[in-house]
Amino acid sequence: MSAVDQDFLASLPPLREVIAEHGLNAKKSLGQNFLFDMNLLGRIVRTAGPLEGYTVYEVGPGPGGLTRAILAAGTERLVAVEMDQRAWPILEDLNQRSGGRLEVIPGDAMKVDEAALLSGKPVRIIANLPYNVGTALLVRWLTTPAWPPFWSSLTLMFQKEVAERIVAKPGTSDYGRLAVLAQWRARPRIAFDVPRQAFTPPPKVTSAVVHIEPCVPIADVPLKSLEVVTLAAFGQRRKMLRASLKSLGMDPAPILEAAGIPGDLRAEVLDVAAFCRLAAAHAELAASRKTR
Ligand code: SAM
Repeated sequence: MSAVDQDFLASLPPLREVIAEHGLNAKKSLGQNFLFDMNLLGRIVRTAGPLEGYTVYEVGPGPGGLTRAILAAGTERLVAVEMDQRAWPILEDLNQRSGGRLEVIPGDAMKVDEAALLSGKPVRIIANLPYNVGTALLVRWLTTPAWPPFWSSLTLMFQKEVAERIVAKPGTSDYGRLAVLAQWRARPRIAFDVPRQAFTPPPKVTSAVVHIEPCVPIADVPLKSLEVVTLAAFGQRRKMLRASLKSLGMDPAPILEAAGIPGDLRAEVLDVAAFCRLAAAHAELAASRKTR
């Protein structure tokens, strides 16, 4: 891994000064909890793996703490999407100081056409996500139609409670739709926890950095069916599957039978492979209905 460019970091004005100068006081509505500790920020970047030969994509650079650490690791191209216009001049200054390696996209990350924006080199996504859109962005990256996806890895800060839902195993209360989507064709792990006090202002709960890499799907099933089946099953997670799957709008009995799953089980106990069997059975039944 390339060494951290300490000279570059030393040449930058202190983050707290930059924030004060631009009036970038943290806004709750934008999920703003900033990180200043360069050791911690360096650790997040190292978790992502080598950056040489990659484009890095960051959502929500804000005043640029994590952005600085990514640039100091020698990234050749960093694309960052930020919604808060107060941060744009700060980031443009950082772009100048980095020799033009930082491309800032003003606007909402939920609306960016990432695959087009980031085409070319392989992509690593590294972000301290705003908690209000963090899960939605993760689901979006996990459900890209093309697989392997446009990204090679995701290294993301979440509230610890969300991180635990991503890596949860069957039979636990954290296990749900997010775990199935994250573990069907990717390997997620919690890299480390980050205490509240590391942020300014401190959030209410502990956070954690999650690292995810894509892998071969557990089973090759239609994404749409896996999405609807998990939505129905976990939408009413306390009910038996023969009841919760009624919300699919078709008789669940043949789906459960084709998947070899007893209808008196609850969603929580099915492993990812079982959800794949349900999705395959759902897709088949839906297709046969169309041709009738
Ligand atoms: N990366 C900085 C850090 O680690 O100190 C800031 C992280 S802060 C948790 C989240 C950032 O995401 C804020 O800068 C906020 O303005 C930005 N943000 C919030 N919603 C966004 C959205 N929909 N699209 C792009 N950026 C967003």
